[in-house]
Amino acid sequence: MKLTSEILKAKAKELGIDCIAIGNIERFKNAPTLMSPITYFPKAKSVIAIAMPIPRGANRGIEEGTHWHNYTFYTYNKLNAFFRPIKTYQLSCFIEDCGYEAVAHYPAVPEGNGTTRKPVAEGKVPPDVVCSIRVIAAGCGLGEIGWSKVFLTKKYGPRVRLGLIFTDAELEPDPILDTGTLCLHCGACTKNCPGGAIPHPRETDKRIYVDFGEKQIYFGDVQMGRCTLSHHGMNKECSPFLSKEFPNMAFDVRNSQMTEEEAYILTYALAGAKWGRKPGSHAVIDYYNQIIEHTGYFSICGAKGCIRACNAIMEKSGRVEQTFQNPYYKKESWALPVQPETKPQGVNPYREEYLDEHYPGIRENEYVSTDSKKK
Ligand code: SF4
Ligand code: SF4
Repeated sequence: MKLTSEILKAKAKELGIDCIAIGNIERFKNAPTLMSPITYFPKAKSVIAIAMPIPRGANRGIEEGTHWHNYTFYTYNKLNAFFRPIKTYQLSCFIEDCGYEAVAHYPAVPEGNGTTRKPVAEGKVPPDVVCSIRVIAAGCGLGEIGWSKVFLTKKYGPRVRLGLIFTDAELEPDPILDTGTLCLHCGACTKNCPGGAIPHPRETDKRIYVDFGEKQIYFGDVQMGRCTLSHHGMNKECSPFLSKEFPNMAFDVRNSQMTEEEAYILTYALAGAKWGRKPGSHAVIDYYNQIIEHTGYFSICGAKGCIRACNAIMEKSGRVEQTFQNPYYKKESWALPVQPETKPQGVNPYREEYLDEHYPGIRENEYVSTDSKKK
């Protein structure tokens, strides 16, 4: 059966996919080898990008500071790893029913790949090809990579997760959007990012350019170490969990120069860590431990700047087709102090709390400063 863009898009609509765009493979001929759909599937002629919406209400718990699971589940990990792949799977099966091969590409972090393995055969590249879904989706014309690096669409603004399919069917491509079609370059993401990870749009030397041949686009050079530290719970400003367990810590994420990989190592090590002297499960941070065991992933920042603030400003400026009866922000967003509020005392708060409760007075003079001893 002959497959056209029109037939494919009609099928996508039937499957509940309302954001879809197609790029011809020539647009990706300059892509880095380990991020190229051509390395992945040399016979590919077209790339199909889809976006699935993040429900605005799924961010509400973090916005209010009252509930965290929904973000990881409905807006991030399970949307990327469960809800959205069902659609790419169904669309891939339809393409193959029409007689064309369809490679559904699972999103991952290309920069995070190890490239130490040897090629499987002479002339092949190492088996570590992972495409950048955002760059490729922009090359298909699905939307625009916003200044914050978050993908923006006409219908849902920044509230989307993406999927790709590479196919050997030759399909009519959609036009690539010019930078600035959707992104306002307003800096709301910069101002509201708790990690200080997003440069200001005025910083023209912080632009990253991508060349699709027929069009060049750009977006901001986000400091991914700071973003990862915040996203994965190492930033007290946006983590009540870290604040509770480490009230005396003063780690300044906004000035950290950690790389993304270093930040991943640190945050995942912390999330999985146990400390034998802690009562209960011994988890260093109970919530991180619990959510990571439940979903295999955890998000703490909740994209305060790059999705929530961006979504609010895009809605307000009329750049999001999906509209709501009420504005997103009901009040100013919360932020926790990074610096300790009180001077720390003691060594082991768990032991001390227990002793104070069960043996009042037993710790008298346990902590006496050197100065007061001298008096
Ligand atoms: S908040 Fe959104 S629209 Fe404004 S600069 Fe950032 S990415 Fe662009
Ligand atoms: S996820 Fe959070 S820390 Fe990362 S860029 Fe977005 S707002 Fe900033």
